[in-house]
Amino acid sequence: MKILSVNAGSSSLKFQMYEMPEEKVLISGVFEKIGMAESFYTIKINGEKVKKMALLDNHTDAVKILIEELLSNNVITSLDEIKGVGHRVVHGGSKYSSSIIINEDVIDTIESLSSLAPLHNPANLMGIRAFMKELPSAISVAVFDTAFHQTMPEESFIYALPYEWYTKNGIRRYGFHGISHDYLTETLKKELDNDKPNLITCHLGNGASISAIKDGVCFDTSLGFSPNSGLMMGTRSGDIDCAIIPYIMKEENLSLNEVMNILNKKSGYLGVSGISNDSRDIEAAADQGNERAKLSQVLFVNRIVEYIAKYYVKLGHVDAICFAGGIGENSMATREAVMNKLAALGVKIDNDANNVRGEFKLISASDSKIPVYIIPTDEEVMIARDTYNFI
Ligand code: AMP
Repeated sequence: MKILSVNAGSSSLKFQMYEMPEEKVLISGVFEKIGMAESFYTIKINGEKVKKMALLDNHTDAVKILIEELLSNNVITSLDEIKGVGHRVVHGGSKYSSSIIINEDVIDTIESLSSLAPLHNPANLMGIRAFMKELPSAISVAVFDTAFHQTMPEESFIYALPYEWYTKNGIRRYGFHGISHDYLTETLKKELDNDKPNLITCHLGNGASISAIKDGVCFDTSLGFSPNSGLMMGTRSGDIDCAIIPYIMKEENLSLNEVMNILNKKSGYLGVSGISNDSRDIEAAADQGNERAKLSQVLFVNRIVEYIAKYYVKLGHVDAICFAGGIGENSMATREAVMNKLAALGVKIDNDANNVRGEFKLISASDSKIPVYIIPTDEEVMIARDTYNFI
């Protein structure tokens, strides 16, 4: 059975088509600069990548071209072979604790949650609407980035603010990257042969978050009301003292929007180093002795260590820790620095094992008190699995 896994942004649309239940990727690709001049797309099929220019006024244009490509490459011979389309939806609020088949009610709810995710939910809806229009007989499923975190107890998701802000305004920790943390948790359950493990899952990419998994479900997570809290990230500040905001507005005569933009797009690795948001550039600069690059690395690692330590204490015992995401999967230096700073918890690295990129691997020493893994995360397959399960 053929299932499409879709991630729609405001000007992009990523897709991956699977043969299910085998989870075989048949074709994948991305449409970029939708609605802009010089829009284009890339597709990957049979290991070959092709880039093509195309006029993409909107997401529907992208879906139409995708269908043409599927037919001309003989991935499908007719549209009704595509039984399901799974969509990544960033915000499901408190309403959705699992994936759901999309109907008009669900679309209305996702729309009503747009105030909580103004950059993401409207873009996700553009993708949903385009596919529903072009593939009306396929079942559409929404897979939420927040759903996995809905098992968090109140003690993890309530902020120390007036309680009415939660009941009346919905201000609480929601958490994000849930599809990835779910994948990591499921992978470790199989690996450890334990249905209810206690885990600390670290998703470290340009966006980064850590989750505490208790008895196999999410207990706490570092992203909060918005995707800018917890860890330091590529361009996001993570946790800061909120009094900084009015202070810098006044000092530098900045608007609230300008400050929020800086906290989201010009802080983190980029802000501290002044070099780049990409940890590869930071590592190269630090190797050449750049002090601010080194400082940004230390801040990044320290914040990760602080969250792991806090979650370790909250969980009581931890069956495994894992690293995922672009940095977690590829940066040996980051993993090594984090693990060395976790010595107080009995964590010991196996430096030879750590000398890999993007592979599933146990990288802790045999006498480490907690096993530590690299797990290449796979959000697309989680979306395909949930969609397949509905069908
Ligand atoms: P993601 O958001 O998960 O795609 O991760 C993207 C980030 O992963 C990039 O910004 C880089 O900082 C990081 N990254 C990717 N490859 C490497 C690598 N080989 N070494 C260090 N960092 C990497």
